[in-house]
Amino acid sequence: MRGRRGRLAPSPTGALHLGGAATFLVAWLDARSAGAPLVLRMEDLDTQRVLPGAEGCLMEDLRWLGLDWDEGPDVGGETGPYRQSERPGVYERALEALGARGLLYFCDCSRAEIARVASAPHAGEEGPRYPGTCRPLGLQERRWKRPPALRFAVPPGREVRFEDAVYGECREVVSEAVGDFVVRRGDGVVAYQLAVVADDAAMGVQRVVRGADLLGSTARQLLLWEALGGAAPTFLHTPLVLGHDGARLAKRSRGVPVADQRAAGRDPQEVLGALARMLGIVDAAGPFSLRELLAVYRPEGVRRGGVEVPAELGVLLASAVIVASQRPSGL
Ligand code: GLU
Repeated sequence: MRGRRGRLAPSPTGALHLGGAATFLVAWLDARSAGAPLVLRMEDLDTQRVLPGAEGCLMEDLRWLGLDWDEGPDVGGETGPYRQSERPGVYERALEALGARGLLYFCDCSRAEIARVASAPHAGEEGPRYPGTCRPLGLQERRWKRPPALRFAVPPGREVRFEDAVYGECREVVSEAVGDFVVRRGDGVVAYQLAVVADDAAMGVQRVVRGADLLGSTARQLLLWEALGGAAPTFLHTPLVLGHDGARLAKRSRGVPVADQRAAGRDPQEVLGALARMLGIVDAAGPFSLRELLAVYRPEGVRRGGVEVPAELGVLLASAVIVASQRPSGL
């Protein structure tokens, strides 16, 4: 069995919202209940979306909740630096390793071209399945129609299986679901899938706890783990927290930042208690300390969803429910 060295991997693109706080609470309990260390990594590669000041606010909100870490941008550590924007060498090395194994190719197809060619019943959030147009050309230089992206050559027909601590057994045939996926964009920005695997490998992460919106990325990441030759972590995906209007809390503009709870004079233990009850970690209403939560936390006890947020946090939370009782994507 893998250990539980874990990580908190926020994107500094805005305030810490309650959905994010719920995920980080589980990540913290999951590591600490096993006596394992935690790394804080700022996922700031998508500079267009990074908000100045968000990193500091995230850390302040996490600390207010009592969630701590052993390595991070503020405290340093042996596997740093801890901002993705400061780790280009790590991604370059991973790309070189994949290229040396013949698993990368250039692609200068536009989205419109892909959509035209793909006979795509799978036109999901990330667009249609890539039909492999550029794959036969490999890493050959040619006259580009536009700056080329790098794609990972997915093994055709291979089913990836993994056991998620909350969602159970998951399977995906990546070649059918998404096809060869981008690991470096045409503008040179390293794609999330590659960055997260290269970082988790370099930082010795053994357990990935994150929101269920990323459950659908896991099979792709496991293919990268396999191609890079590392021992993959185990996974625990936390249920999405949605509002009554069906929008993810992360995307709602108002009413749910942790900072609002602070400003309203609430005790962090009230927020922890409400989040833990929403997640199924405790049954009773009321404030809970992290110590108390550590004593009762079990990974398999985390709910997939279907439970209303308890009312004790008042109007700021009253409209939030977990509705992700099903697997959120095509797994
Ligand atoms: N940075 C991602 C997010 O904030 C999390 C990535 C991951 O945990 O793999 O949604």
